[in-house]
Amino acid sequence: MIPVNEPLFTDREKELLVECVETRWISSEGSLVRRFEEIFAEFVGVKQGVAVSSGTAALEVSIAALEIEPGDEVIIPAFTIISCAMAVVRNGLKPVLVDVESETWNIDVDQVARKIGPKTKAVMPVHMYGHPVDMEPLLELADHHRLHVIEDAAEAHGAEYKGRKCGSIGHIAAFSFYANKIVTTGEGGMVVTDDSRLAERVQAMRNLCFQPTQRFLHDELGYNFRLTNLQAAVGVAQMERVDELVKRKIWQGEEYRKRLKDIEGIKLQTVRDWARPVYWVNGFVLADEVSMDAFELAARLKPYGVQTRPFFWPMHEQPVFKRMRLFDGERYPVAENLARRGLYLPSGMALTAGQIATVCDALREVLMGAENDGV
Ligand SMILES: *Cc1c(COP(=O)(O)O)cnc(C)c1O
Repeated sequence: MIPVNEPLFTDREKELLVECVETRWISSEGSLVRRFEEIFAEFVGVKQGVAVSSGTAALEVSIAALEIEPGDEVIIPAFTIISCAMAVVRNGLKPVLVDVESETWNIDVDQVARKIGPKTKAVMPVHMYGHPVDMEPLLELADHHRLHVIEDAAEAHGAEYKGRKCGSIGHIAAFSFYANKIVTTGEGGMVVTDDSRLAERVQAMRNLCFQPTQRFLHDELGYNFRLTNLQAAVGVAQMERVDELVKRKIWQGEEYRKRLKDIEGIKLQTVRDWARPVYWVNGFVLADEVSMDAFELAARLKPYGVQTRPFFWPMHEQPVFKRMRLFDGERYPVAENLARRGLYLPSGMALTAGQIATVCDALREVLMGAENDGV
């Protein structure tokens, strides 16, 4: 089976992990956490990084740091991971959805304008699958309406928008280091920002809001969102060769594109000319003329030893949010179509050229077979 994800390590990860064990520094107090934050912030091109326990935690605490009034609204794309909406809801705020573009699968900035109201306080662009959001018009809108911009760059380590790294463009940004992300610590995340006041708030919130002067006196309710030194050890080792990791993702993405471009019945994520995407995962949407859906295609690829994953399910169609009556009667047709007809192929860091060729051959065969059976 060619798995959807397999990470790639060197002896350096092992060496730094052994160092943690031998020095007995394993908690978040270890010095590798700070080192990881510094290297990562420098890589993104921002002043500060605050390591946390996951990308989801990074989103939640980024919003918490902004001190938005309960009941106010945050605009997010309808097509994204649940973490985005969850982070908004858990902060006592209301997520407001906007559909995505059918070409880039990113939040449709023109539609954002129409959703801005008196209660809108922030917008959360998600750089979907490593393709940057069109940030300039979004920043202009945000500026005009005085909105905070929280970038979800969990899938976009090293991606660039007009020469600027994703995660350095908005006011605050969240990264994930889950095992399938471009830089991984197994589980982990980072908040990055140029705003030292926000960074300080995130530092406090991730650590129970202990106070520097009187440790056990708490002014606010925080979280335990700390990253361990063990995780940071893996992170530092990864960051020491981050350019190589990003290059490898881009190479895989381009290799897939070369082989997928003349397979009929699928549509790839469009790459804008101002974008340097990192192809976090290599996905496609089934064209309208193909009558099977993504789930059927996934089942047909399995016997070839090709593991796949369907795309995210839209926020307005989540049972949990339906029960909360959050998006009653709302429709987002592009997001709905992506969920039903989108699929991604094996995309882990360890994936080889030979495996990419095998996957693409299997896909071609399955799609041609389907055409012949009239499926
Ligand atoms: C992975 C991911 C997250 C969540 O990260 P975790 O570390 O798994 O909590 C958030 N947003 C996006 C877009 C992601 O892909």
